[in-house]
Order: sequence, then structure tokens, then C-alpha cells
Amino acid sequence: MDGNSLGSLPKITTKRLKQVLQKEWGEGMIGSWSNAGWFDSPIKVGDKIAPLIGAKKGEVIVADTTSVNIYKALCAAISLQKGRKIMLSEAGNFPTDLYMMQGIEAFSDGQLEAKVVEPDAILDNLNEDVAVLLLTQVHYKTAAIKDMKTITKKAHEKGVLVVWDLSHSVGSIEVELSKCKVDFAVGCGYKFLNGGPGAPAFIYVAKRHQKRALPILAGWMGHQDPFAFTDAYTPSPDIARFRCGTPGILGMAALECGVDLFAQTTIGDLRKKAMQLSRLFIELMAQECREYGFELASPNEDTKRAGHVAFRHIEGHGIYQAIKKEGIISDFRTPDILRFGITPMYLRFQDIYKVVQLIKQVMETKAWDRAEYKIRAAIT
Ligand SMILES: *Cc1c(COP(=O)(O)O)cnc(C)c1O
Repeated sequence: MDGNSLGSLPKITTKRLKQVLQKEWGEGMIGSWSNAGWFDSPIKVGDKIAPLIGAKKGEVIVADTTSVNIYKALCAAISLQKGRKIMLSEAGNFPTDLYMMQGIEAFSDGQLEAKVVEPDAILDNLNEDVAVLLLTQVHYKTAAIKDMKTITKKAHEKGVLVVWDLSHSVGSIEVELSKCKVDFAVGCGYKFLNGGPGAPAFIYVAKRHQKRALPILAGWMGHQDPFAFTDAYTPSPDIARFRCGTPGILGMAALECGVDLFAQTTIGDLRKKAMQLSRLFIELMAQECREYGFELASPNEDTKRAGHVAFRHIEGHGIYQAIKKEGIISDFRTPDILRFGITPMYLRFQDIYKVVQLIKQVMETKAWDRAEYKIRAAIT
């Protein structure tokens, strides 16, 4: 129940990694950069992610981590916005998004400002001073979905460029980057894409910005001709300028396996099943656990809630620990949020029944009420 945090291991990944290790690395050695397609893999896997987020071929590249890509996207957007000094985001956004803005502000010597406002004040704060708006489409705590199309349009009306963080969207809900005219986006490889722990992330840059947007991390692999080894940096004219250094091929191969699974289905079908699973979960919780004080923290309306269901409970941490002891992995977000990932690719309706029955049993027997569960684990 936490595939929104770390997707499960696909069977094919074990086989594929063995092949990469033994054949491509073990036998092919350095020749595999061209013979096994290692060098082009960031673009190739990016092109496979593109249809999952409504982007075009050549607009997505796999590289670095989501955090690093947020930094790259923010700086690229700022480089297109001379005279504007504000980076705008909302309170309660995923911390790394806010920290990246604050880091850029700290380095800018007063030239740039990281501004964080309450979620309902975002539209009112869009103006001619704002260079870039950074938002996450699906909230990591509540799974609430933002209206990407309307917000992007309102930002553009004020000349503001947008960066959307798709970490909890990609592989879970339908995303329409081209239709919404999104400028930049980033996303995570290890959540719904099942790319494995610490899988490489991706960055999307709309075609119209690619020639002009500054690649702040001007690494040799983003050069227009990396193997010319020139002293002067000339960025690649396309999405390749957003690669920096040598890609980790083992992680890339695992991510590709996860992404390839999506070719067997459609995001529309996955989303439909996810909504049915989530509805069942919410209704069973209401029916079976009514007296135990759970409060739905996610939107109740199916179309407004993405790939996980969150409940608030004052004893959330103990409950999370007690069900984990029985083999059900969820996660806990401080101070009181229990998150349950709803991953339709491998969760069954009967799994939802089992989980609710277990939660009920934990509440009935007060199995959560143990001294060791009062201590919050360092990693939840
Ligand atoms: C998971 C997540 C990240 C993760 O960033 P990393 O650099 O991979 O650690 C970033 N943003 C959001 C919104 C997330 O949910």
C-alpha cells in the first residue's frame, strides 16, 4: 500500500538488470555506450515517458533526481524572464520544491526572491514581478489534484512561466502537458513508474523554450558535441542540453522496465481502476471503522483525488507501525497522516478488503497502543 512512495519490483527488472550487468557491462564493456544504446538512453526513455504525460517526442529527458531537475527547471525559466525576480510557490508544497527556491534565492545575492503563499492566494499573487510559478500537481499528503490547465493559463496571462512537479501524477493520472501549454515539468522515477529505489528522474521542457532556456548545470553531456572536448561550452540546441553528466545505466535500465509496463495498458484504464479501488477503500473504512476516529484527509470526490488515500488519526503513527507489523506497508506523514498508495497495476479489490479488516482489528485490539510505537522512526 505504498506504491506511491516506492513502486514494487517488476519481475522483468531482475532479468533485465542481470543482462545489463553480465552482457552489456561484463562483456560489451565501454563499447556498450554505443552498441547497447547507453549514451542515448536518457532521450530514449524520456520519449517513452512523454506519452504518459501528454508531451511530445524530444520534450522529455531522463536525468538526475527530481530535486536537481527542479533546480534546473527553475533556473531555465528564470533565464527566460529578464527583469522579474520572484519564484512563487505555495505553503505545504513538497519540501524539496520550496528548499530549491530558497537555495536559489540565497545564492542570488538579493536578485531573486522565493515567495511562498497560502494555496488559495496563488492566483492573486501572479503579477509582472513573478518570473516562475512552481507547483506540484498532486499533493503528496492529500492526493488532491490541481487544475493544471486553468492555473497555467492564469499564469501565462501575467507572463509567468510555470514549472509543474509531476512526482505523484506520472503513471497515476492523465496529464496533458502540451494541451495545458505547460512550460517546464519534472517528475519522479521510483513512485508510480516502478523504476526502483533512487531511480533517475525526468525533466520536460516545451519545444518552444528549448533553444533559449539556460541549462544551469552546463555539463559536458549537454554540450552540442560532447566528444569534441572543446574548452568553450555550447549547449545542445534541443532537450539534450538538460543532461549534465554521465547517466547511471543500471538505474536507467530498471526505470525503463517500469516504464515499459505502461505499454500494456492505458493511463485511462489504470485511472479508472484506481478510482474504483479508492472508492471501495473509503467506503469500507467508513463502514467498518466508523467508530475509531479516522478522518478522510483526501478529497472525497473521485475526480479530485489522485493515486493515494490519506486519513488523519491522532494515533496515526502507532496504527502505521501496528499494521506494518502484520505485513501491510503504508506510510505516515507527520503529524497525523496515514497514506495508503492505490496502485492499480498490482493491487486487487480483495487486497483492499484485507487492509480494512486489518486496520479494524488493530483498532479493536488497540494493537497500536504500545510504548515502542510512540517513538517516531527516523524514516517513515
Ligand atoms: C517524491 C517527491 C520528490 C522527490 O524528489 P527526489 O529528488 O527524488 O528526492 C520531489 N517532489 C515531490 C512533489 C515528490 O512527491
